[in-house]
Amino acid sequence: MKHTVMIIEDEEALALILKYNLEKEGYNVVWESRGNRAIAQIEANHPSVILLDWMLPEISGVEICKMIRNKPDIKNIPVIMLTAKGEEEDKVKGLSAGADDYVTKPFSIPELMARVKTNIRRAPEPIVEKELVFEDIIMDLVEKKVRRGDNYIHLGPTEFRLLKTLIETPGKVFSREYLLKNVWGDNIYVESRTVDVHIRRLRKSLNEYGVDYIRTVRAAGESIDSNFTGDDE
Ligand code: CA
Repeated sequence: MKHTVMIIEDEEALALILKYNLEKEGYNVVWESRGNRAIAQIEANHPSVILLDWMLPEISGVEICKMIRNKPDIKNIPVIMLTAKGEEEDKVKGLSAGADDYVTKPFSIPELMARVKTNIRRAPEPIVEKELVFEDIIMDLVEKKVRRGDNYIHLGPTEFRLLKTLIETPGKVFSREYLLKNVWGDNIYVESRTVDVHIRRLRKSLNEYGVDYIRTVRAAGESIDSNFTGDDE
């Protein structure tokens, strides 16, 4: 099976050199130049290793690395930070953000190839999260089914993704903008009111078999919260 290497790098010339050399070594390569598309691409491609540039225009590599480590389905993917900064302090920052390895530009291609190989070999077997549980709500991520106790709940794909986002970080209030970006994606134009519509649908389906844990915080966003039951709208 071919391993996929994901390159997140805004410098096209460098990305192309990396892509060429990685393909020569037999890897599948996915290149993403935009930082704000990185997480969606990683989730879609599930690479064996990620080469992550530190300096990206929209969002820094360090921020992306932290986001990767907070997402249960991708958090175990090794991350090699690519950076022009060689300072010890930055290295520490990169590693404490959760990077597995650190390569300073300009680097030698053979050295980087060796690092890629090592990181893939060292990586733990991908733990694919099969279930997300919140109170009595159980999401089967493999079968894409949701139940409360013994009752299966039918959710549309958008409601499923919404619920998954909320349940991954209980108690956190997600803004409509965040949800639009993460649930609908960057390239699709939808009005923020659309979020409300789908939250209502999600709520209606979920609450059929249990208490309402979805909390709408006016002017802030949505969350799932066990300290909260009942609607404030
Ligand atoms: Ca860059």
